[in-house]
Amino acid sequence: MSDSWGAPEENPVANPAAPSHAAGPSTTAAQRPEGPVADWGQPVAFDYTETDVDRQWGSNGAIYEWDGEEGDVAPVNPELELQLFGSPDKRHCAGVDFSKIAEISVSQEGEHRIVPIFKFKDAGLHPIMLKNVEMAGYQTPTPIQKYCIPAIKMGYDLIAIAQTGSGKTAAYLIPILNELMGKAKKLVARRPVSEVPRSNLANFRAEPLVLIVCPARELAIQIFDEARRFCYRTLLRPCVVYGGGPIQEQLQQIGRGCDVLVATPGRLIDIMQRSHLFTLRRLRYMVIDEADEMLDADWHEEFEQILVGGEQEQGNVKYMLFSATFPGAVRAVAREYLAMNHIRVRVGRIGSTHANISQDVIFVKQELKREALIDLMYSLDPARTIIFVNSKRTADEIDDYLFHKGMPCTSMHSDRTQREREDAMRAFRSGRTPILVATGITSRGIDVRNVRYVVNYDLPNADHGGIQEYVHRIGRTGRIGYTGSATSFYTERDEPLAEDLTKILMETRQPVPDFLQQYIPEGVDPKEFKMEDDTSDIEDQAGDAGDAWQTNGPQDGQNAGANSWASGGDAGDGWGAPNAGGTAEDGWGSGGNSNNVDQDDNW
Ligand code: AMP
Repeated sequence: MSDSWGAPEENPVANPAAPSHAAGPSTTAAQRPEGPVADWGQPVAFDYTETDVDRQWGSNGAIYEWDGEEGDVAPVNPELELQLFGSPDKRHCAGVDFSKIAEISVSQEGEHRIVPIFKFKDAGLHPIMLKNVEMAGYQTPTPIQKYCIPAIKMGYDLIAIAQTGSGKTAAYLIPILNELMGKAKKLVARRPVSEVPRSNLANFRAEPLVLIVCPARELAIQIFDEARRFCYRTLLRPCVVYGGGPIQEQLQQIGRGCDVLVATPGRLIDIMQRSHLFTLRRLRYMVIDEADEMLDADWHEEFEQILVGGEQEQGNVKYMLFSATFPGAVRAVAREYLAMNHIRVRVGRIGSTHANISQDVIFVKQELKREALIDLMYSLDPARTIIFVNSKRTADEIDDYLFHKGMPCTSMHSDRTQREREDAMRAFRSGRTPILVATGITSRGIDVRNVRYVVNYDLPNADHGGIQEYVHRIGRTGRIGYTGSATSFYTERDEPLAEDLTKILMETRQPVPDFLQQYIPEGVDPKEFKMEDDTSDIEDQAGDAGDAWQTNGPQDGQNAGANSWASGGDAGDGWGAPNAGGTAEDGWGSGGNSNNVDQDDNW
């Protein structure tokens, strides 16, 4: 398609680089073919009234069941194995381009340094865990895993600055579960044997050893899915609770035994208040995932309740904070709850993280956006595509519009019930409806492996997520080293984002279209441009007088002993994401106008 839809007169678009996915010469609405050039198949109407009981909630995913009777080594369950890990011939990450690993730097800060591991088999993992890692298709640890696995194994508290996509879920799950599995029989709470009728489950309190708290429901389900794989045969039972899902079913699940609990904060607090059903008194590990989002100012009280209000014995609990950025609120929690000798690891700024994502920014007049969208869709190969919009209403409208154009699409936003959201995600993941129209709630955390295209029908609003949200959104494609393509419609309203957007394009060596050329900083060669590493938060922290955090490390001054890691030849790519713009606070969806910010329903 054309890379301009009604560009202003004075700014004729002359960007010579046609979108990499464009299928031939530009078309106009008039020239457009009657139907899709690619075979998108028939549209599948989505029936939101369907209540078929066979469809499961994310919280009911199959897990390894153990009622305490097996010996020390839990037997294999071939059927479940297939369900959790897929068929053996599809388990390796085929087609993944791991060549960019050498560019990813990991730095350690603080007094204590960890010697990274370079292979899973050198990580001292239990043979069952090693087998799970192998069956998950993980051949080489990602940079964050190289540090977190030994740090957690050695018993340190931990802060890791890394984003979803860095492999951080496994970075904490593998070592934590590995540490506990040998002791599972001794540590886990009494649990009902499988014959106990459901009505008697209330006699058993859920007493998790591991609590993982994260801000979004979809992310919670995703972490639970990862936990189901790594808990396989460990005798540790994973569960998940999240808002919008059926609480009675979730309570029944945790009543059957709950050693590892993944939770969103609102539902967790609800459950914590039922002390006859739930207690944190056995807790050994607390992981706060996406801590910067969790610490949105409005949630401080709930957060405090989770951190201290669950009967946990403070001295017994190891705390891990995972955060994409490192704002003051996260630092404050770290100061208060983490041991002084905690480990701090940061997945460095990776200029080329998104080098495997081609980015096109196209000028489109606001009123021509739909035309531009359908034109773009016709030019794409049929493949999983996420279309981001900024409001629920636009999501509904675009879903409708595409559906009537014969495109197999579904949509997701915060006015949908949780069941509808899960159904939509399932239809998208399975490929039944390979086009997903979504508001920003899906931009963080969601990991669908083969999303080929991201379309920013609306660019993120500069005041709601801004360039950081842009980076998160485009990161939904090009996952784990796959290549992908992101196309963004730029209108006159997007001017506040222009400067940051231009910098991201330059840094990732993408063409800067004519209408953005004016935002290239003076005297800068776009081909050489590199953003400053975002170390501001660390500097802030060092400037905090009397800050218990101020650990200058061994003698070598600034960022002392920073153990920058860059190794050639190792497999792995696309880990982490640039910490674009360094605006720490928001990350909250992408509400285009404040009435439509999709904020509350993440909980
Ligand atoms: P996360 O950052 O935890 O959301 O992980 C992003 C994706 O990377 C998920 O699909 C993981 O299953 C996958 N992943 C994590 N670690 C590895 C690894 N060492 N090798 C291959 N894939 C991985």
